[in-house]
Parts: sequence; structure tokens; C-alpha cells
Amino acid sequence: MSLLAAMSSSMDDRPDLVRVDDRVLSRSRLQGLATAVADDLRGLDRVAVEATPTMETVVGVVGALRAGAAVVPVPPDAGPREREHILRDSAAQALLAPVGAAVDGSPGSGAGLPVVPVDLRRESAGTHPEPAPERTALILYTSGTTGAPKGALLSRAAIATCLDGLADAWAWTPDDLLVHGLPLFHVHGLVLGVLGPLRIGGRLHHVGRPRPERYAAAGGTLCFGVPTIWGRIAAAPAAARALRRARLLVSGSAALPTAVFDGLAGLTGHRVVERYGMTETLITVSARADGPRRPGAVGVPLPGVRTRIVDEQGHDLPSDGTAMGELLVAGPTLFDGYLNRPDADAASRTADGWFRTGDVATVGPDGWHRIVGRASTDLIKSGGYRIGAGEVEEALLAHPGVREAAVVGLPHPDLGQQVTAYVVGDGVTGPELVDFVARQLSVHKRPREVRLVDALPRNALGKVQKKRLLDG
Ligand code: ATP
Ligand code: MG
Repeated sequence: MSLLAAMSSSMDDRPDLVRVDDRVLSRSRLQGLATAVADDLRGLDRVAVEATPTMETVVGVVGALRAGAAVVPVPPDAGPREREHILRDSAAQALLAPVGAAVDGSPGSGAGLPVVPVDLRRESAGTHPEPAPERTALILYTSGTTGAPKGALLSRAAIATCLDGLADAWAWTPDDLLVHGLPLFHVHGLVLGVLGPLRIGGRLHHVGRPRPERYAAAGGTLCFGVPTIWGRIAAAPAAARALRRARLLVSGSAALPTAVFDGLAGLTGHRVVERYGMTETLITVSARADGPRRPGAVGVPLPGVRTRIVDEQGHDLPSDGTAMGELLVAGPTLFDGYLNRPDADAASRTADGWFRTGDVATVGPDGWHRIVGRASTDLIKSGGYRIGAGEVEEALLAHPGVREAAVVGLPHPDLGQQVTAYVVGDGVTGPELVDFVARQLSVHKRPREVRLVDALPRNALGKVQKKRLLDG
């Protein structure tokens, strides 16, 4: 079956199959436009795409995939250094960009990349053979939360398997209208948010900027968002109430605060489905449409995915819901390795082939996974205790005057690390928050220090960049 199976079936020709902002395309127009791009790319292996949230990006990605090239999305807000790194590291042979756009195709001072225009007035009916399933479809750069972004090689087969697993878990069908406003250069917005409907079927509406009113007005049956978007929707009751008409609300990319889960349940009548994944593994764990949804938990492994949690020596820990260890995953959705990073590749897998997520989790007897956080920044070792940053963040967020909270372990001469909270708040004081947490959690989990700040450092998906907090 073709990677974009729903695109190849001629059944559905609704005029607004794909909508991005205020532009719409039918399946046959998208097919014709993408084929014109594929004609231009014939014979190329790797093609970068200027990944603005536009129809041109959708057409460019579909065209490059049709030509059998690996697609390298370039974040539109990438600074010159990041841009140069992605273009050089990926060895892209061309850059797709909207016709007439002023883009810089030059990796540094060397020879410029040819810029191939995506022109929404040019269609073709040319034919292209279906590329083999093991071919690389995407080279996606990780978010760079813990270090420099790494290029992950994702095969067509891994993506197809992941999407089929999500169709099963979320009962996603051609009757759905998917709505989101996610960036188009990560797994969430591009793989799930664009390739998803083009494989599974149904309509797609990308709302451009992810504003609550736009989600509300789009009338989706299925809505995707990151926790920051869901937080904004939960704070906009009129918009949230409009989502009562939806079938399923899905959150991922970072932990969804319990307060947001509860707020949305009250306003929309929906308990949000949370799912967990990574650039390197695609989506591996999720709550299901036909099952329970639990605040603070990300669900059960998707079809074909296996998981383990291990201690620092690599020994398996019990699935008792309390033992915290590194989450390892295996299965058909794993990537084929990092580009140009044999060091990171070797470190990322155990001798028997399990992928080391770098995330700390617990697994319950019923198979439900909870993500404690990242081993590198979210597992705080203080005075002989192991403290999950997320639990302390949740306790802080329960205070009505706390808008955002990030907890890290700063170096401490006696304790090893000290629990330190960065808080964006309205009229709250540090000592008041320390007391507030102390009333909820054991004494060693109480922040030693609360730093009130105007904003937390976040990336395009709204993930808090804790490394920047730790580096001061
Ligand atoms: P880098 O690998 O470059 O440091 P990154 O890990 O943020 O960046 P991604 O692959 O985009 O890059 O993100 C995967 C990570 O996002 C996971 O390892 C996990 O820490 C976090 N994550 C994803 N979904 C969830 C979720 N539902 N709950 C908690 N954390 C999540
Ligand atoms: Mg990572």
C-alpha cells in the first residue's frame, strides 16, 4: 500500500479536502500540483522544504515524497546557524519554496542550493513509480531540547505503520475532519498532522496560527495540539465550549498539566487523549478512543510496540506503577539512525537493539505509562531522594496564581542538587509557593528556591528548554 494511500484512491473528491488557512485543494488538484513538483525533482535523493505553515509546504512535501526523495523540513524561524546546519548536515540537493519567496538556499558561503519553486498554478499528470517502503521519507531534526538538533532518518514503512497504529487507537477514519495549527517540521504537525489524513483519509484543516478561536471555528471532529495550545484553549471558555462538537481531542509533545486536562473536561465534555512519542521512535504510546483517559498518563503501547523500564544498570524494573526507570522502546516505528552521528547512534541503543528514550517513566500493572520526565533534567537527585520535576510542577500549577512552572535541580554542595522552581505568576511570592507545595508533597520535594520570572524559555512546540535554565 502506498504511503499516502488515501491520496491514491480516487474515491474522495471533496473540493476542500485540504485547507491551510484560507486556501483549499481537492484531492485531484493536490495530486496534480504535487506531481508537477515531483517532475521537477526526478532523480534527486534529498530535498529540503521551507516548512512554513502554508499550502506550498503540503504540496512540496507530497511532491518530494512522490518523487521518492527524502524530505528535510527547514523550520521557517531557524536562525542562520541552524539553517546552515540543517542544509549542510542533510546534504540536501535542492530547496523547495513558494514561488517568488525570497529564500536563502546557500549553506554558508559555499555554492547555493538550487531553489525549486512550488507554484500552485502548475499541475502535471506525469507518472512516478511507488518508492520502496524501506526508503527514507523524512529526515527530521529533533527539537534540540537537550543538545544540538540531530537528523533522524525515518523510513516510509515506519511512518505508515505508525499512522495505521494511530488510526486504530483513535478510530481515525475518512469521516474525520482533522484540525490543528502545529508547525510543519516535526513529527506532530508533519507526520501526524499532514501525512496522517493523506494516508488514513478524511479532511485536513490547518488553521495557520494556533489561536483558540480558530480551533473553535474550524469545527473539527479530531483536534491536535501541544499543551501550550490546550492551555490557551482551556483559558478561553467560549472557544473551548465550541469543541463540544468534536469527537476526540489529542495532546502530545510535552506533558499535559492535570489542571488543563480537568479544565478542558469541564468546558468541552472531552477527556483529552494523551500520547507520547519522539522524533526517533514516532508515536509509541497512547490512550485509546475506546478506552479510559487519565490525567498525567500517556496510555498503552500502540500495536506492535514493546516497552521496558530499566534501572541505571539496565535491569528491568517491575510494572507496579511506582518504580521509576528509563523507558526503552522497540518496534516497527523506530528510525534508521541519526545522520552523521555514529556517536549518538551507538549511545541510543542497547546491545540487544532497544532504543533508549532518555525519558524516565513508570508502568502500571495494567500497562499504563506515566512519563516522569527526561533523565537528564527532570529526575532530580537531592539528598539521596529521586524527585520527578513534573510532580513538583503539577503541585505548583494547582495554585491559582501560578501560570507556568518549570522545576530543575541546580547543583548544591550538600544535597547534590536542590529543587529549584521557575514560576510565571500573578501576585504570588516565593515563600507562599514553597508552603503551598509543602502542604501537598513530602518535605524533600519542596522547592528550596522559587525564582519568579516573566517567561520560560520555550521552543516552537512550546517545550520548556530546561537546559537553558540549568545553564543560567
Ligand atoms: P532533543 O532530542 O534534540 O533534545 P526533544 O527530545 O525535545 O529534543 P523531540 O523528539 O521533538 O525532541 O521530543 C521528544 C520528547 O518529547 C520525548 O523524549 C519526551 O521527553 C517529550 N514528550 C513527548 N510527548 C510527551 C508526553 N505526552 N508527555 C511528556 N513528554 C513528552
Ligand atoms: Mg530527544
